[in-house]
This record gives sequence, C-alpha cells and structure tokens, in this order.
Amino acid sequence: MSASSGPVAGSEPCNDGPCNEAKGHLWDYLDGELTGGDCDRIKSHIKECPPCDELFRNEQKVKDAVSRACGCEQAPPDLQNRITAMVGRLRSEACGGTSDSTISSQSDSSAG
Ligand SMILES: [Zn+2]
Repeated sequence: MSASSGPVAGSEPCNDGPCNEAKGHLWDYLDGELTGGDCDRIKSHIKECPPCDELFRNEQKVKDAVSRACGCEQAPPDLQNRITAMVGRLRSEACGGTSDSTISSQSDSSAG
C-alpha cells in the first residue's frame, strides 16, 4: 500500500500555468542552461506532473538522438527539420491528445 496523495492526472490540460513555464524552459533545462532556482522549479514540477515528465523524457530522447547522429550539439538544418516535426508529435502525445486542433466540436447551430 502506498500512501501517496497527489494531484489526479489525466483530467486537467497540461498547457496552463506551471506546465506552460516548464515547457517554455524545456530545452534550456535539457541543455543545462537553467540556473539553480529555475532548474529546481522545473525539476519539482515534472516530478509531480506526469504529462510534463513524459514530455521531458521524450525531448531528452530526441536530444540524445541528435547528439548521436552528428556527434555534436548543433544539428544540421535537415536533421533539425525532421526533429522539429517529430517533437511536435511527441508533444501532443504527451499531453494526451490534441488541445486546440482537431477538436471534434459538434456545433450545430441551425436556427429555424
Ligand atoms: Zn506539467
């Protein structure tokens, strides 16, 4: 039995408040360019936020792949384009689906 009473995941959108901040500093964090304070905030957030945790892991994978591919920090334009597209998909997946696009809104406003 584990006594962990944390926030329920899977209900609220992961693009608001702290999540937004975490995402904004995503690459800075992965690149290790964040200062102590900010770095700590992001760290503690992704620990409590499964969606963000997943996102950060995915991005880390991408970063790893790039490093392996070219053996340096800077990726060539060609690769960057492909990575960017890939990251975009991973992001939406980490968020548990699309948020502002492809929304099945059935607005049938047919007044008589
Ligand atoms: Zn989050």
